[in-house]
Amino acid sequence: MAVTQQAKAGRTAAVELPGDMTPEVGPVNEGVGAREIASLTPMMRQYMEVKALHPDSLLFFRLGDFYEMFFEDAVKASEILQITLTARSKGADKVPMCGVPYHAARRYIGRLVSEGLKVAICEQVEEPGNGPGIVRREVTRVITPGMVLDEEVLEPQASNFLAAVSWNDKGWGAALLEASTGEFMALEAPGIAELAESLSRVEPRELLVPDGKRDAPEVTQLLARLLRTPAVAEGEAASFEPTRAAGYLRSHFAVQSLSAFGLDDAPLAAGAAGAALRYLKDTQKTAAAHVDRLSRQERGGNLLMDESSRANLEVLRSLRDGGRKGSLLGVLDKTVTSLGARKLARWLASPLGSLPEIHARLDAVEELSGRSVWREELAGILKEVGDLERLCGRLSLGAGNARDLRALGLSLAQLPRVVAVLARCESPLLKSLTGPLSALPDLAELLSRAVAEEPPVTLKDGGMIRAGFHAELDKLVALSTSGKDLLLQIEQREKERTGISSLKVRYNKVFGYYLEVTKSNLDRVPKDYIRKQTTVNSERFVTPELKEYEEQVLTAEERRCALEVQLFEELRAQVVSAAPRIRSAAEAVATGDALLSFARCAAEYGYTRPEVDASVALSITAGRHPVVERMLGAGDSFVPNDVRLDPAEDAQLMVITGPNMAGKSTVMRQVALTALMAQAGSFVPAKAARIGLCDRIFTRVGAADNLARGQSTFMVEMTETSHILHHATNKSLIILDEIGRGTSTFDGLSIAWAVAEHLHDTVGARALFATHYHELVDLARERPRVKNLCVAVKEQNGKVIFLRKLVPGGASRSYGIEVAKLAGLPPEVVARARELLQNLESGELDDAGRPRVAVRQPQGGRRGAAPGQLGLFGAEPAPTAQGSAGVTPAQQKTLDALKGATIDRMTPLEALNLLAKLQRELE
Ligand code: ATP
Repeated sequence: MAVTQQAKAGRTAAVELPGDMTPEVGPVNEGVGAREIASLTPMMRQYMEVKALHPDSLLFFRLGDFYEMFFEDAVKASEILQITLTARSKGADKVPMCGVPYHAARRYIGRLVSEGLKVAICEQVEEPGNGPGIVRREVTRVITPGMVLDEEVLEPQASNFLAAVSWNDKGWGAALLEASTGEFMALEAPGIAELAESLSRVEPRELLVPDGKRDAPEVTQLLARLLRTPAVAEGEAASFEPTRAAGYLRSHFAVQSLSAFGLDDAPLAAGAAGAALRYLKDTQKTAAAHVDRLSRQERGGNLLMDESSRANLEVLRSLRDGGRKGSLLGVLDKTVTSLGARKLARWLASPLGSLPEIHARLDAVEELSGRSVWREELAGILKEVGDLERLCGRLSLGAGNARDLRALGLSLAQLPRVVAVLARCESPLLKSLTGPLSALPDLAELLSRAVAEEPPVTLKDGGMIRAGFHAELDKLVALSTSGKDLLLQIEQREKERTGISSLKVRYNKVFGYYLEVTKSNLDRVPKDYIRKQTTVNSERFVTPELKEYEEQVLTAEERRCALEVQLFEELRAQVVSAAPRIRSAAEAVATGDALLSFARCAAEYGYTRPEVDASVALSITAGRHPVVERMLGAGDSFVPNDVRLDPAEDAQLMVITGPNMAGKSTVMRQVALTALMAQAGSFVPAKAARIGLCDRIFTRVGAADNLARGQSTFMVEMTETSHILHHATNKSLIILDEIGRGTSTFDGLSIAWAVAEHLHDTVGARALFATHYHELVDLARERPRVKNLCVAVKEQNGKVIFLRKLVPGGASRSYGIEVAKLAGLPPEVVARARELLQNLESGELDDAGRPRVAVRQPQGGRRGAAPGQLGLFGAEPAPTAQGSAGVTPAQQKTLDALKGATIDRMTPLEALNLLAKLQRELE
């Protein structure tokens, strides 16, 4: 929506206009110097003063019914918000400005914040016309990407975390703070990888680092590891200082020591937590009473997954467009509350690592999945429950209104109904939810009695409190709304008392309300009437009752509004004092809803209960990919597959071969997702599944290019592989999709082989290894726990038919050319590729051990260099200083070094280093 100059015309008539700015104000990019400030109008001077305190925020400067922006802020905001940039001008200079109506501001703020910007809201903090000079204005809060409270700006289904981080040479500390709910966690991590892993679970929107550290290499490296890049803000460096931060936290939580939070021995975590809390208080200008707990996050315990694995498996968002659709969460989210939706996302981002907890969830899901009537009843009730966490957060921060109270009241009123359903359940977890859900009848009753059905957004105009709640308020409302009736009653009563039928109650500005008696009736005037004025035909009197009434009527409206504000504040205080109970109830609703979502999926999609135990086995019968099976077109059906891994027996590492497009990636991902779902407490898409508890899931899938971050595809691949080899244990599950394909064939094959051997011999983890290097099939002959699987295809009339079925054994062919043909490569290219393939397959090698593929004479000038990848030895020999075989002595030395290398005793990293060294020597 464009806010035009015309639309703005006249809107600021009641407030100071910037139109009388002096020409001294510089053009857009020059800023305004001290000398110029002196010559500005008072209002612009005020603007400049406020802006100077918030240089890194867009300043929303309240002028009447609009928030105005000036200078660079106006230019930037008008571009992002697509609103008209105007200018106040005098002479040749122009001051760019733009504005948004205050009542629609939240939407605009949301847009700016989602672009990673900060918005400082500068309000008029006194009524215009009170005293001389211009109205006082102050920044009342700063909205940043990680500090959002407005429901219109927040995404209901997603958490909105700020992550504060600090570091020293010993490691990292971080704090995660959700301003809208008050959730607060702190953690320490030995290295950047572990830190990134912990942060990525909640996908923080903003990263807070100490002053001056925005561009520090540590921050750059951390950002490079977070796939969803947060905005970066700087906080006062001193607030990160551990001793000071600990003092700040102790005084906020009113505790003697931080040991209750487990932060006694965690100075870096305490430093980050102190800084995060201070940032919240500073930006929101609040005491942050709703932040009443802080928990230390320990690593381990839960199933760990690094960010790239989570992204590769498309757990929370799809790789295609980053949306929920096409992700595991998108398929499994059948929650009906935003509390439940956020909880489910957390469960999937960080599945459990403890068997009792997993079994408790599975029991709950089993019970609900078998009870369709309860399920739908529960969903129907939960739908009526609002975002208790955020409602409570807003009200605790002093930011909510009566609508929030109403929504809270309505939500709390549903809780007994939820309890009634859950109380019927056998599952201990479902039953345990009834406690916290039953703990708020007093507040529910109070709010339903107190808050009007449709309260206004604003606090100051009354209409918030329900009739019958407060006697004094009822009287004031009656006075202000039915004042006339009461006057008529008084008039009637006085007529009867005096017998003067012409007696009238009248009003004028001088005397207010009075009784008018015609001269002929003066003898009947009672003694308590007080004479005020005589006119030609009548006399005017007042009575104490009338005066009292007048006093009440005239001020009733004002007093009503004031009383309503007071009552609202009292109700809000009640909410704040009940905040811990509300949060426990919110937690129970979220858990119930997430379990319900799992149960609905189980019932609707035909999932089964997995058997999760402490073994290292992983066996899936007739498993499906939870997302792919939902995405297939109407005519297609998903072909289920069996996978059995058991390192304790004979199957630790599966080498999966098969043509392109056969379904290798799909089957591997479905195994990982099945394990993940089982540990999150969900049923799984399979006929039967036994999952030995995994400590971590690693994936190295596809070529997630990281060129923008300065790494080549191959480098990313190798870095991720090396991370896996360093961190995997015999409890881990590893998915490796075509490792080594980012480099030349021989290099790639050697690396893939060495990695597979290392996994088998040293790590002992369960692993699925898809490859196009058919040579790897031979590994099964050498290593007892390596097995071959291939995805079957059928050839019919020269065409490939994908069967999608996993069968024992290795594939003999790649069918890459057939797939290329399917993809529409020009026929002559396909034909030539077939010819080259035949040459390659006939196995002829040239003197340098290079396949002689290019037997067809080249057309044009280029001589017959081997197409495709050039290996280490693919360089054309130079005409001089060569031996008879076309190899220089230096090259021969390099070749000898390679020949002599004992690859089977090398770690992949050593192998890589050797390759790099040899390559350098050949350059
Ligand atoms: P490439 O080697 O080229 O990477 P791939 O063997 O890894 O291929 P996938 O990407 O797993 O193949 O699968 C290709 C497509 O086949 C998928 O997008 C999916 O639509 C379909 N597909 C895979 N497995 C199945 C299955 N079991 N049932 C039905 N369709 C499937």
